[in-house]
Amino acid sequence: MSNIIKIYEENNALLTGHFLLSSGKHSDRYLQSELVMMNPSAAANAVAPLVKMLNEIQFSLVVSPAIGGIRFGYELARQLGKRSIFTERVNGAMCLRRGFSVEVGEKVIIAEDVVTTGKSTKECTAAVQENGAVAVAVVSMIDRTGGAKIFDIPFLSLGAVNIEIWEPQDCPLCKAGSTPIKPGSRM
Ligand SMILES: [Zn+2]
Repeated sequence: MSNIIKIYEENNALLTGHFLLSSGKHSDRYLQSELVMMNPSAAANAVAPLVKMLNEIQFSLVVSPAIGGIRFGYELARQLGKRSIFTERVNGAMCLRRGFSVEVGEKVIIAEDVVTTGKSTKECTAAVQENGAVAVAVVSMIDRTGGAKIFDIPFLSLGAVNIEIWEPQDCPLCKAGSTPIKPGSRM
């Protein structure tokens, strides 16, 4: 088991049960990264191996999509001695707010806690590139892509987790008679 999965488990951030996801699909496991990031020493331990992995890559800024990427990106930037900003959605569109900006030609990495489809990550990347920055890598704590190549820049991650998701009518847990819960609703 990779160290990052161990850290998620130790912080009860890799939940097992029967979950109703925001997509409407069901799963038997759920990752809640904020339960790792709420503990600063766990967050520091989780992120530390990425500092070495990023050794060869030149960049000056860490950019994260809100909300899940924010504390991860901040901790990564802190350990690397870089700056950290985030993008957020306004009327559905990912953009820079709060006085955040990038320089034209500035090299940035995009930091997301968990990458599954890569949708938010790609939108975050597009938002900074529209402002002239150059995204040189995507980094995450957890890779849930299942090996799909979804980025055209390097993708570094601390560990891979494959979580099966099902349409409600195909869910084996529903068939066994259990009722799913929304993972966010009890936290
Ligand atoms: Zn179900």
